[in-house]
Amino acid sequence: MTLDDLPIRDDLRGRQPYGAPQLDVPVQLNTNENPYPPSAALIDDLARAVRHGAATLNRYPDRDAVDLRKDLADYLGHGLTARQLWAANGSNEIIQQILQAFGGPGRSAIGFEPSYSMHPIIAGSTSTRWIEGARDEDFSIDVAAAVQAVETHRPDVVFLTSPNNPTGTALPLDVIERIVAAAPGVVVVDEAYAEFARTGTPSALSLLPANPRLIVTRTMSKAFAMAGARLGYLAADPAVVDAMLLVRLPYHLSTLTQAAARVALAHREELLATVGTLRAERDATVEWLRHRDLSVADSDANFVLFGRFPDRRAVWEGLLEQGVLIRETGPAGWLRVSIGTKDEMAAFRAALEGILG
Ligand code: PMP
Repeated sequence: MTLDDLPIRDDLRGRQPYGAPQLDVPVQLNTNENPYPPSAALIDDLARAVRHGAATLNRYPDRDAVDLRKDLADYLGHGLTARQLWAANGSNEIIQQILQAFGGPGRSAIGFEPSYSMHPIIAGSTSTRWIEGARDEDFSIDVAAAVQAVETHRPDVVFLTSPNNPTGTALPLDVIERIVAAAPGVVVVDEAYAEFARTGTPSALSLLPANPRLIVTRTMSKAFAMAGARLGYLAADPAVVDAMLLVRLPYHLSTLTQAAARVALAHREELLATVGTLRAERDATVEWLRHRDLSVADSDANFVLFGRFPDRRAVWEGLLEQGVLIRETGPAGWLRVSIGTKDEMAAFRAALEGILG
């Protein structure tokens, strides 16, 4: 039997699953992970927390993850409280819950592309009609054009990603404010990469008090180096959190996940110490690529989009043959490299040098 033989929903027929290749190669620079594994001290604390949590695994976890939400509010600052925080298994699940509550059949969502590919995919799986907004040549968002798109389509959900994946582009706060003012529904600012932004780049968190329909999403998968733990979260008005309670599955966040996330937050100083190193490596990578006369998007994230190659697949394969896995994504001709360790970036540069000649 094939997928086509199954009585699945008509709107899922012909769709492709999310599929960044997971290949076992020496240099993995394709999914914007943090290359630094947890320290021995963090692993010890995690093991202790898991042991403690294991003693009560016959019971369901705290359904509302209250302690974790307090810790997340404390981390974010901006005067936020646990009532304004919500957590789930990765920010992908947060995005899914947002679309379950505010999107759905007969409703629509807009994003400004190229942007994070899961926004339209989750829109599809929640039967939310996807509207493709555009970005400028330099991947910034033209605020007048964006406001016009929002006024024309009147989407129920607007996605703004800052810094944007795969381009690395950060959005100025006034652009977000003007789009929120024009939007009839909720506006999601996906800040998965916020910690990597240049110092002085403000977070949309500062806009929350004045904008109750604004939702800021974050993750522990990137700067916090906890992609394997699966912990994403949002900050918004308490009423938005009430909406999440309507769609979340009961006990969605396991005792072990909540415990692991709290340990990581307690170790945040050590974990976030990698951010400075990664930013410096990013800026050096941008400079190196520009010296090779490549087009390179300005990046406020832990990855760099570069091109433009007449045959990007050949470049991607050439790197892979040398043990360097990057991502074939973005507009035609562009490739995206995640920032790894110093040694990994040296391997990337050497491999690309060999291809460019
Ligand atoms: N938002 C953006 C912009 C991302 O790039 C990613 C991960 N690639 C996510 C959300 C989801 O991350 P996670 O589910 O691991 O929190």
